[in-house]
Amino acid sequence: MSRGRNCFVPGCTSGNPNKNKANKERGERNPSLFKAPNDPSLLQQWQKAIPRSDKTLSSKDAVCELHFLDEDILTHYEIKLTDGTISRIERGRPLLKEGSIPRIFPNLPSYFSSNKRKRKPPCVRSEATEKVSNSKI
Ligand SMILES: [Zn+2]
Repeated sequence: MSRGRNCFVPGCTSGNPNKNKANKERGERNPSLFKAPNDPSLLQQWQKAIPRSDKTLSSKDAVCELHFLDEDILTHYEIKLTDGTISRIERGRPLLKEGSIPRIFPNLPSYFSSNKRKRKPPCVRSEATEKVSNSKI
């Protein structure tokens, strides 16, 4: 039923095929989408955290990595070597830490997201600015 998963967060275009294509053309990685939790109480916390009133979040929906704090996303495997040092290997696909809740909503008025972090602004480049740069050529 849910073909072509998009990010559930309002204003976010992650998962949109056109957006994915645009990212690819720019050589940018598409944000990973994390499936909403199956655990009903955690799902409810996600639902509460995401400022969206027209639709109820279900465990079939997905939220992209742009809405999670860096420390909530595991991007590396950590392997403890026999001599005690920890070797970090990048994951092919980021993993969301268990129990994490989306907290960052960049396309909403700033009072919605108090947790400003130094992370690349995800969906800031609008269609409008693209058109402007195209017309210059
Ligand atoms: Zn998103």
